[in-house]
Amino acid sequence: MLEDKNQSRTSLSEMGEFKLIDHLTKPTVIYHEDTVKGVGDDCAVIGKEKMQTLVTTDLLVEGIHFDLSYMPLKHLGYKAVMVNLSDVCAMNGNAKQITVSIAVSNRFPLEALEELYAGIHLACKNYKVDLVGGDTTSSTKGLLISVTAIGEVEKKKCVYRNGAKPNDLLVVTGDLGAAYLGLQVLEREKQVFQVDPNAEHELDAYTYLVERQLKPEARKDIVKLLDDLDVLPTSMIDISDGLSSEILHLCSRSGTGCQLFEDKIPLDQQVISTCEEFNIDSTTIALSGGEDYELLFTVKQEDFPKIKANPNFSIIGHMTDDPKLVQLVTRGGQKVDIVAQGWNALS
Ligand code: ADP
Ligand code: MG
Repeated sequence: MLEDKNQSRTSLSEMGEFKLIDHLTKPTVIYHEDTVKGVGDDCAVIGKEKMQTLVTTDLLVEGIHFDLSYMPLKHLGYKAVMVNLSDVCAMNGNAKQITVSIAVSNRFPLEALEELYAGIHLACKNYKVDLVGGDTTSSTKGLLISVTAIGEVEKKKCVYRNGAKPNDLLVVTGDLGAAYLGLQVLEREKQVFQVDPNAEHELDAYTYLVERQLKPEARKDIVKLLDDLDVLPTSMIDISDGLSSEILHLCSRSGTGCQLFEDKIPLDQQVISTCEEFNIDSTTIALSGGEDYELLFTVKQEDFPKIKANPNFSIIGHMTDDPKLVQLVTRGGQKVDIVAQGWNALS
């Protein structure tokens, strides 16, 4: 038996997810020279040859990451794959294989798992990845799904979180905040439904938001587009926890500060109108919402002409040299510190 020397008890919620990961992985020893990047980026990077292997994994837990009362199982299967493919994209790589592990309670019939796998197979088809293994076991309660993605990237094109330099432009793809609002809309519908099961679902005004929550896509197209444009980002991350959290990751890993301009943050019209309806601030939603699975990256100033007119990209700020100043410049010109309010699984 291993002796438990740790008699004191520290609450995990006090610590937060990132501190916990740091704490647990600090004693890690790297034994193999070909482990190029271990913990700390969107993927691990393995191999010293021209082509490198990327590995990433994510675990989704019922009641924490998804609610089956509004998340159809087919969508869940699709999304579980997407969140991993998104991390491969964030290294500027191409995903090739996945493994899928599930733990299920006896409350799920075969047909439910067939639905889950219909989503997984559809993701494999759309993104040309091969399902090559996994594990199946039972759980006492609820459903857990863990996907691991394996990809590849040319060594000289691999993009890490830590390469941003002062004056680099900060760029984001697509638009932000919709997935989080989609979740709010679905939660509201669930409550209406609990009160009156015959109530009409009124989701027409929110189709984009709900789609962004239930059927996210990994931005594989952006990896290709950047290559076509001959742009190699200096740093990159995918937006899973919210813009502020991801900006702070890029800054802390790169040792830079940042100025983010509020009026440049890309928002869909449905996000703007729904924020008005719910009386919430759209900037807050974009900063802290999470689950958008867009790519956030930095490029050298000289690449500006290559990206400026492209509708896929919004230039939302630039990196600065003082790592203590990670700031939002508001529409009124005020500078406020960006703090991580991203989604935290442990709170
Ligand atoms: P992402 O949001 O891109 O999936 P995470 O925030 O989940 O990344 O993880 C940050 C880093 O910490 C990644 O390199 C991940 O592989 C690593 N990591 C997360 N949890 C653990 C763990 N329990 N043990 C070891 N490494 C972990
Ligand atoms: Mg990531």
